[in-house]
Order: sequence, then structure tokens, then C-alpha cells
Amino acid sequence: MADIIRLLPDHVANQIAAGEVVQRPASVVKELMENAIDAGATEIQLIIKDGGKTLIQVVDNGKGMSGTDARLSFERHATSKIQKAEDLFNLHTKGFRGEALASIAAIAHVEMLTKTEEDEIGTKIKIEGSKVVSQEVVVAPKGTSMLVKNLFFNIPARRNFLKSDQVEYRHIVDEFHRISLAHPQVSFNFYNNGSDVFQLPSNDFRKRIVQIFGRKTDEKLVPVSEDTQVVKISGFIQKPEFAKKSRGEQFFFANNRFIKSPYLHHAILGAFEGLIRPGTHPGYFINLEVEPSTIDINIHPTKTEVKFDDEHTLYAILKSTVKHSLGQFNVMPSLDFEQDQNLETPYEYKNKQVDIPQVVVDSSFNPFEAVKPPKGNSTGHYSKSSAKGWENMYVGLDIAVETDNHSNLEFESEIVNSSIFDDEKEEVETTSTTFQLRKKYIITTIKSGMVVINQNRAHQRVLYEKFLKNITIKEAVSQQLLFPLSLSFSPGEVSILKDIKENLCTVGFVFGDLNGDGVEIKGVPVLVAESEVQMIMEQLISDFQQEVPGDSFSQSDMLAKTLAKTLSVKTGETLDEFSQVKLVNDLFACKETTLSPFNRRVYITITENDIDRKFI
Ligand code: ADP
Ligand code: MG
Repeated sequence: MADIIRLLPDHVANQIAAGEVVQRPASVVKELMENAIDAGATEIQLIIKDGGKTLIQVVDNGKGMSGTDARLSFERHATSKIQKAEDLFNLHTKGFRGEALASIAAIAHVEMLTKTEEDEIGTKIKIEGSKVVSQEVVVAPKGTSMLVKNLFFNIPARRNFLKSDQVEYRHIVDEFHRISLAHPQVSFNFYNNGSDVFQLPSNDFRKRIVQIFGRKTDEKLVPVSEDTQVVKISGFIQKPEFAKKSRGEQFFFANNRFIKSPYLHHAILGAFEGLIRPGTHPGYFINLEVEPSTIDINIHPTKTEVKFDDEHTLYAILKSTVKHSLGQFNVMPSLDFEQDQNLETPYEYKNKQVDIPQVVVDSSFNPFEAVKPPKGNSTGHYSKSSAKGWENMYVGLDIAVETDNHSNLEFESEIVNSSIFDDEKEEVETTSTTFQLRKKYIITTIKSGMVVINQNRAHQRVLYEKFLKNITIKEAVSQQLLFPLSLSFSPGEVSILKDIKENLCTVGFVFGDLNGDGVEIKGVPVLVAESEVQMIMEQLISDFQQEVPGDSFSQSDMLAKTLAKTLSVKTGETLDEFSQVKLVNDLFACKETTLSPFNRRVYITITENDIDRKFI
């Protein structure tokens, strides 16, 4: 057989290598900004267009390159940062693999302008798909400007794989956050499609966090600090009461490099255990300084996954340091581990007055008289999940039933399908019986036997169809708030809310100001209690962060799903008979009854036959 092995030409090898280094525009931003940091820049500008697909430019005032270096920097394995393999364990730079520029030049149009302090004139190099188009001497300021245009122009498959400009933009913002947080002493400017997004003058770490995530962040931060032989820890955690539904603000930096570490993340969760609401995530900005020889950064091309020599010790130190800060800054009841935790009052309740339970009895209430019981009637049976729900479980003190919530289910049922309910009211109430099993299932009888309905999924389905309908026909009913709600979010989160604002309005939210770090809400859908708004917004942001819908239909769909998920009756909630009947009716008035919006089975039927067979 003839020989078949061939060496790949350089440009092909570079394109393949580029696949590892450059996944999307944000990867280019990361590499270029890191090069600027390594060059000792004190000012860095990032300019992008169309989510970085058409243009990414990074301008720095760093040390620049000589003409020869400028040309060499685009070769694969060309680096000024290490010389031998051992240097990998004494790294003080972001880069070291010498492949970023070669990779980027292989898959884009690149223009570099650079000049060193000593040189009189600078160098301009143009490269397209690894081919040097031109190199000339030019007048230039000290530093380097890298211009990357038309990413993946020569690999259409990769280009098609890119997400919408919006999504790519968000990835770039994430990357920008990471690098600018890792280097607060460097000043950064960020321009997107001609308008400025961030102007961050040189600052300390705390102020940098506030510059990025908004003024209101400042009061949330609690300092963390520990100095041991293994690691020096510094930074901030957010107070437990500000834990969010979204995971946005969680940052680890190891030797000024953003890293991902599920293991250390777990240590932090451990420290916060019992202090935050289930389903919420603590925010943190933690710097870890270790000996360069005790950390391996070269286990992944993007260098965000690293390996520490002594991870177990690091875990333990981090966890106790965070715990200590939570205690020291009085955000945790006690650090006395000998004490019986069961006797402790959760910190939020320490200074809280006990609510006197209020029972309002409506003597004129007659369940057979009207579909909707009068507002204010509190039977104490039906409790719907609300922001307060978890607190109730926690403390067991607050037994006042929220009358507003009580009326929620009834009300929405009326809206969804009052006609059906009215028509069949007689029949349902006289012929079928409902029963709640283990605060989870509603059992009702049908001609052939019985139906066991999962209450949570059924309600999700009902709400989902209702919201979807509201969005499509745009006629949601909203209730005006007496005092507009002011909620604070980071600029990134605000931009997500802006993206979905239009659809949120169609379900009944009314927005006032939607600016840099805050959102004003003037009206909410009738189904939504004021106290639930923050939670809903956080859930929405979190869902949209994780999965960005491609078109407006999927955006509506996702919005309806999130609202249904958040507002639905949960497992563990007692429903009175009236609410049970409503839910059953509402469910069977839906277009699709068998599956929840998340494709889970809503109910099962057990026929008389099935039961008979069991008795054989
Ligand atoms: P690495 O950063 O891993 O060394 P790169 O391909 O990113 O590899 O860069 C190659 C070389 O080009 C660097 O080692 C550095 O010497 C030089 N270089 C790249 N960007 C800049 C810059 N903005 N300023 C000065 N030198 C730079
Ligand atoms: Mg580099």
C-alpha cells in the first residue's frame, strides 16, 4: 500500500488549533485583552461591533513590539513568555502557549499596529487567513492595537454556528467582567456598536465590583480575608439575604486569572448552608493567591480550568474563611459550633417583631353561592407559594394566611375559562368528588374510574396556556401599583430585562425606568403579588441567561414557562376543596392536558377495571 500519512500545511494546522482556542468572539476578546495585560498596559480599550462577529479591536498602551517580534508573534508556538517546560510552573503571565495570535490570524482578517517605547516608528501588519497581506512601517503611539474582522470568514460552518449578536455580545460582556475584575488597577473602556458600555478607571477591587455591578452592590459586600502558607484569600462575598436565583455574580480568581472551580464553589455553598433560600445562589468575588509552582494552568487551552496541588486544604481553608466572615460581620447567628443549632433563631428573625396572626372570618360566605369566594375570606386551607413560603417553613411562626394569595387561584381560574366553569359548575360539584393526597396529588372521579393529578404540573399547564394566550393576543390585565417598585440589578441583568421587556408588558408588567442598575415596576399582572416580583424577575433573568431563545416565539414560550413555574402551586401546599375543583376544571379546559409545559405527565387515570383487577 502506498504511504498515506502527510503533514498538514501550516494554515490548516492553525485552523485546527484555532478550534480549541477560538470558540466564539468572546474567546478572541479574552486572548487579546490578556495579551494587553501581559504587555503591562495600564489602559485598555475594547471596541466591538455586531457581537464581535464583524469587529473586535483591543487597543493597549503596553510595551508594544519591534517589527520582527510583530511578525513572529503570529507564528504558532511563538511566545515571549516561557522558554522551557519548567517555566510552566513559574507563570506570572496570562499567556504562555504562543498560539492565540496564530489561531486568530488563521480564521479572521487581522490588522496589528504596534510600537515600542524605544522605537521611533511602529509596524503595521495585515494578515488574512494566516497569509501576510502587508507589513509596513507607520507612525504609531506606544502600545498595540489589534483589529480582528470577519471572524471565521473562511470556515462558514463555524460562522453559522455562532449565536445571535445579542448572545455573542453577552459572552463578551462576561469575559470583559472577568478580566476587568481580575485587574482593577488597569483602566478599561468598552464600546459596543459605537456606544460606550463601561468606563472603568483604575480602582481597588471593591470599587471595581461596584463599577461593574452597580451602586447597590456595595452594601451587599462582606470582605473575606485570610493569609496562610498555602493560600492567601481576599475578596468579598455577598450577604446571604442578597442571594439570587441566577448564578451571575460568582467569581474565583487564582493569581489574577479568572478560573472555574466547581470544587471550590462547593466549599462556598457549604459555608452559606442554611443561610440562603433554597434555589438561590450566593454571590462571591474571591481572589486566591498561591505559589505559581503549586498550580497547573496548562490543563485546558482556555486556561480557565486549573489544578491546585493541595485542593483539599484549599477547600477547607476557603470554607472556614467564608464562614468566619459571615459570622464576623454579623450576618450569621453564631459561630459557636457547640451550641445546638436547633435553638438558634435564624438571623433575619432576631430583630423581627412577631406577627400577630390575623384571622378574618367572612360570615356571609357560602361556597355554593358564588364561584369566587369574596376576597378576604380566609379558610386557612389554601396556601399558595409566595416569597414568604420558605420563611414559614423555616420559622413556623407566621401563621397568618395571606388572604391575597388565597384569592389568586380562584381569580385566575375565572379568567382562564370562566365560561366552562360556569357551565359545568353544577355537574362538577354535584357529581364529582375531589380529594388531595399528600399535598401533592388531586384525586377526582370520572365515569370510568378516577384521575390522579399532579397539582404542581397541572397548575403549571394552566398558567402556561394562560400566559401564552396573553402574550399572543396582548390583552393581559395588569394592576397598577400604588408605589412603584424599585428593584436593583446589574447592568448585564438589566440588559436581559430590556430584551424581554416587550413580552413582559404583554403579560401585564408595566415598566417605568429601566436604566443602568435598576428597574422600576409600576404595574404587575393580576396574578402576581407584589412580593413575588423580585423573585420572578430573578428567575426570568436566570432562565434567559442559561438559555437564550433564538426568536420571538421561543422568547414568549420561555417567558410563559418561567412564569408558570414560578407562580404555580407547589407540592406540599394544601388546597381547599374549592381550589381543587377549580384546578381540575381549569386543567381540563386546557388545549393540552396530559403534559406540563416541561413535558412531564400531568395525570394518570385508574379505571374501575384496574381497581377490580387488584381485588382478584
Ligand atoms: P502568548 O500570549 O501565549 O505568548 P500569543 O499568540 O497571544 O501567545 O502572543 C504571542 C506573543 O506576541 C506574546 O508572547 C507577546 O510577546 C506578543 N504580543 C501579543 N500581543 C501583544 C501586545 N498586545 N503587546 C505586546 N506584545 C504582544
Ligand atoms: Mg496570549
